Amino acid sequence: MRPFTYERAEDAKDAVRAVRETPGARFIAGGTNLIDLMKADVERPAHLVDVGRLPLAEISETPEGGLRIGAMTTNSQVADDLRVRARYPVLAQAILAGATQQLRNKATTGGNLLQRTRCPYFYDVSKPCNKREPGAGCAALDGLNQGAAILGATEACIAVHPSDMAVALTALDARVETLSPSGETGSMAIEALHRLPDSAPQHDTNLEPGSLITAVVLPPPPQGGQVYRKARERASYAFALVSVAVAGDAVALGSVAHKPWRASRAEAARAAGASPAEAMAAELESARGYGRNDYKIRLAARLGAAAVEQAMNGRAA
Ligand code: SF4
Repeated sequence: MRPFTYERAEDAKDAVRAVRETPGARFIAGGTNLIDLMKADVERPAHLVDVGRLPLAEISETPEGGLRIGAMTTNSQVADDLRVRARYPVLAQAILAGATQQLRNKATTGGNLLQRTRCPYFYDVSKPCNKREPGAGCAALDGLNQGAAILGATEACIAVHPSDMAVALTALDARVETLSPSGETGSMAIEALHRLPDSAPQHDTNLEPGSLITAVVLPPPPQGGQVYRKARERASYAFALVSVAVAGDAVALGSVAHKPWRASRAEAARAAGASPAEAMAAELESARGYGRNDYKIRLAARLGAAAVEQAMNGRAA
């Protein structure tokens, strides 16, 4: 690991100022992804600004009847919160489907959203990777791409976003609150946070560089059932091959694209009277595989339809 300097921020505005004014500075909170990336020499920050103890670890009611989840809440704290479990079970299920208890105890809400892809070539600095080194090429196109995207990918990058939590938040129409480098507060729909790779896969999000996520805001719970389903290679501590979040009429897919994928076509098809299977088929019309990940198209269709049916029938996951 390369040498770096470190400071702990006591205030959110001081934190963004420190990152803005220090060349090569990055935020760190739980560190469950960033430290791995630093050890692999993928991330090379010169300075870390620790935001993990900022007073942003509360979960509170909003006047609209939703919840405001501070960005420094741990994944365990959110999944264990009785209000989340009662009103947003899809979110609790998604968080508990991810990582391990130890990791969930450290990982934060903000950090979970900003974790980076687990494409094996992104972590192997001896292999070409446009996300790590723009213009280098993409080793996954003809390589180990069994986990790769089936929707919204480009030849520049076929990686997927690895978060479970973000998929549930997408189905729940959450919003993300931010603090810009100049200290201005902002808010964006979670669908606008992450981006497709296009020709610039080095950018995972639409956040202004140096911005800090301060909270996630949930609207009032939707009418109808909520379900999170995750297909993976083993029963725990594995990233999704495909995941599905259903929250009322909303459907989102995980591990199928560079961002959590809102299944808008499936939702429109369901509203027009299509069966869950027909709705998922409509969603996946434009899906394509890259060889080893071709199976994900069928898996997404079946898991998606099963999750929608489960939510309609009100069964627990
Ligand atoms: Fe890099 Fe993306 Fe290609 Fe993986 S899929 S090697 S992250 S450019």
